[in-house]
Amino acid sequence: MRTTGSDSSGRGAGGGAPVRRCGTMAVHRRLMAESAAYRATRAQIEERTRGYLAGRDAQQLPDVAHVPVVVHVVSAADEQDVSDEQVTSQIEVLDRDFRGANPDVSILPPAFAPLVADSRVEFSLAPTDPAGASTTGITRTRTTVASFTVDDAVKRASTGGVDAWPADRYLNIWVCQLAGGLLGYAQFPGGPADTDGVVVTHTAFGTTGTATPPFHLGRTATHEVGHFLNLFHIWGDDGTGCDGTDEVDDTPDQAGENTGVPRFPHVTCDNGPDGDLFYDYMDYSDDQVLVLFTHGQAARVQACLADVRSSLMQPAPAATPRPTAPVPVQREPEVPAAPSPGPGTGSDTAAGVTGRWLHAFEEDHGDVTVYRPAGADLPRARGRRGIEFTQNGSFTEWAVGRGDAPQPLPGRWRRVNAQRLQVSTGRGEERVLEVVQLTPDRLEARWSTAP
Ligand SMILES: [Zn+2]
Repeated sequence: MRTTGSDSSGRGAGGGAPVRRCGTMAVHRRLMAESAAYRATRAQIEERTRGYLAGRDAQQLPDVAHVPVVVHVVSAADEQDVSDEQVTSQIEVLDRDFRGANPDVSILPPAFAPLVADSRVEFSLAPTDPAGASTTGITRTRTTVASFTVDDAVKRASTGGVDAWPADRYLNIWVCQLAGGLLGYAQFPGGPADTDGVVVTHTAFGTTGTATPPFHLGRTATHEVGHFLNLFHIWGDDGTGCDGTDEVDDTPDQAGENTGVPRFPHVTCDNGPDGDLFYDYMDYSDDQVLVLFTHGQAARVQACLADVRSSLMQPAPAATPRPTAPVPVQREPEVPAAPSPGPGTGSDTAAGVTGRWLHAFEEDHGDVTVYRPAGADLPRARGRRGIEFTQNGSFTEWAVGRGDAPQPLPGRWRRVNAQRLQVSTGRGEERVLEVVQLTPDRLEARWSTAP
């Protein structure tokens, strides 16, 4: 089902449904053929990546990485001059996908669910330009070039595009019209600085405006930034053979790329019963199917950020204001556990849970979840989930969001009986919380799905 040859083959051009086409390997092979320096640097980077991944304690940077992005919009027509809103929608997708926070991860079959990883990198439009002036992080250039290809012309003003901002400080993303159904391409780490970055065709960029199904969910940029952070195609770029590798252990061996909307399971290379991981961002499936990076891929991203891309990381969030900054929380007034015994039962603990509680996961035991009041002196943790109930029936789940900051997910709650309350979570779930024990400094509870 796969035609052999370069990534620029003409599959899908015969009137059938469009399929994903990425030009990254074509660029890689060109640079490998042309440049001895690139060949040497690529070999060194792989060597250092293997060393990094072999070090047991070094597989994760201490903090979530923040990467400033400049989006260069290069247009030959008004339609291609995509809106700020379309650009912002793409940055939001990158953030979610690289943090493993994309809600559509729910489409994964259970067998693949444990593979989902947080790559611990976030992206923001750069607040300052190379000269230090304030900027939107978006440049706009009008061109006479009708469409661009993998030859990097879009990356130079002299050839109808726009020059890169310094690649050691910005992730450059060019958005333009690419020719012949090409969706995008990236340059692996180790290439020339003046062409470093990612190119995406405007109809596969972001989730609004000119973004067009089946590539309208921002996954082309996720895939290309994956290459930019040193990830290979999941099938190993060996045609349809089973010998190629993506240098990642937890992605199944896979013959060729998957396109469109594959049916689970798709078994190749003796990888049954679950088959190809065609849900992976580094496969060629349609946007609606691509939902995860694996732990092995996240570790390679971390290795890249710790090494060849380390100069890209910026302090955050203070230096880069986030669009969804956590909302400060007013703790509800303390309400004493109302000792209003129901007929034949103990005290009404369910009504006494109001206030904000932090998950003291160190104290969980069996199926009992333990919480401490907000402000309790808990051991340091990277992020702590929490729950909050107010007397007027609102419920907030405090998830771990950007930069490990608390992120509110609003819901509702109601008392069922003296020991139980029902919670409608912000994730759309109906859950029952059974109060096992409630004291002023401790809530022990058992969660279950509402009947
Ligand atoms: Zn690719």
